[in-house]
Amino acid sequence: MEPIHKGIGIVSLGDLSPLIPKIVAAHIESYLHLDADILPAEDLPAAAYSRQRLQYDAGKMIAFLESRPPTGHKKKIALLAADLFVPIFSHVFGESRQGGAWALTSVFRLERQKNGSIPAPETLYERTAKVALHEIGHLFCLVHCDDPLCLMHFSGGLSDLDRTPLQFCRYCAQYLREAKF
Ligand SMILES: [Zn+2]
Ligand SMILES: [Zn+2]
Repeated sequence: MEPIHKGIGIVSLGDLSPLIPKIVAAHIESYLHLDADILPAEDLPAAAYSRQRLQYDAGKMIAFLESRPPTGHKKKIALLAADLFVPIFSHVFGESRQGGAWALTSVFRLERQKNGSIPAPETLYERTAKVALHEIGHLFCLVHCDDPLCLMHFSGGLSDLDRTPLQFCRYCAQYLREAKF
């Protein structure tokens, strides 16, 4: 068996700019103080695609990823350009289970403005990092935070996400320090 790495594994699913995993890796290292390893890209799991909604079912995607034999990293994040949904929402930016092994982040909704225009690249990168850090927080059992100035605050949309600063509140940051492996 492969040794268990303490860091976070990052996997791109399907076509995605190679910059995205690099940006997420840099944020994991600087905000979570964990190593981030970019792993080989994989195909999007066809089993999670919904022909009715023309989107990927986030819950099914996580179930698929978690059904595979565990490899070197205990916690992993999959990054994708395809649109994600959960049955009760039209779309989600990301998804994860509390204490789970895999988190998801999709850039599909993050690389568009409300009016349909394309945001500056830095805006896309910052949004992606925020969603990824939030979802990884859940992997370490963090729950949603009441503090609107905390990354664990629930973002209902892009305006919420853009208002959220790139930081964990003191409480969530302390919880993370204790929860990390
Ligand atoms: Zn959340
Ligand atoms: Zn918080």
